[in-house]
Amino acid sequence: MRWEDGRQSDNVEDRRGLGGGGGLRVGGGRLSLGAIVVALLGSWLFGINPMVVLGLVDGAGGGAPPAVRGERGPVSDEAGRFTSVVLASTEEVWAELFRQAGSQYRAPRLVMFDGRTPTACGTGQSATGPFYCPLDQSVYIDLEFYRMLQQRFQAPGDFAQAYVIAHEVGHHVQNVLGTMRQVQTAQQRASERDANRLSVRLELQADCYAGVWAHHSQRARGWLDRTDVQEGLNAASQIGDDRMMRRSQGTIVPDAFTHGSGEQRAHWFATGLRTGRLDACDTFRQAAP
Ligand SMILES: [Zn+2]
Repeated sequence: MRWEDGRQSDNVEDRRGLGGGGGLRVGGGRLSLGAIVVALLGSWLFGINPMVVLGLVDGAGGGAPPAVRGERGPVSDEAGRFTSVVLASTEEVWAELFRQAGSQYRAPRLVMFDGRTPTACGTGQSATGPFYCPLDQSVYIDLEFYRMLQQRFQAPGDFAQAYVIAHEVGHHVQNVLGTMRQVQTAQQRASERDANRLSVRLELQADCYAGVWAHHSQRARGWLDRTDVQEGLNAASQIGDDRMMRRSQGTIVPDAFTHGSGEQRAHWFATGLRTGRLDACDTFRQAAP
């Protein structure tokens, strides 16, 4: 992926080295370790902040400004620059797609942090992987995750990392389009099994949106080669729930899937990549794989 001469985003906040401030805030009584483990596993990769899953989001207000403020503006280290350049590309692609649909795109903020950091969705932690908080419309990422992606999840390559960022931005698109709210409302009335299914559909759509971004960014910049596409498809497949579960517990429990199998994730990423169309990303359709 030829990204080095790309423009950096203006929407990056760098909190690395600032210290997280505040411990894990647990409201309303004790939580069993099991509940925490299930929530962390469920939201493990690229999901919504596990604090949301656990219902621990502070108060009803949401969106309160975080107590920690990092530096805004360009970053200088390689992983940081890469992330900022990919984010800038998502801003350009989504602004254009929204403009074509007669609407205006409000780009998300991206916060780089290490360890833990306050968010409008509760305390963000590196251990859960990158995530999107809809309440402050921000993507949170500890860049150490790139190393994990390569070593632990056998998903090497810069485009695998770009896919992760684009997936989180896909959640932002779902948020501004109202899809995320619709799904959360439906989940409140659903059984656990159906709620998990809806989570899977939401995650697969974010994968498809990541593919849509890749399609248009390639048209604009020609910065990907065949190896990159393979890296992206491999990453999508490696971080499917089936492989994640096998790594962590040795068995596969399809009903507990919240992100989709590796095959599903790669399928939807490829669908977005091939078509470049939002309307090709209807993962909620009855017969969708
Ligand atoms: Zn996700």
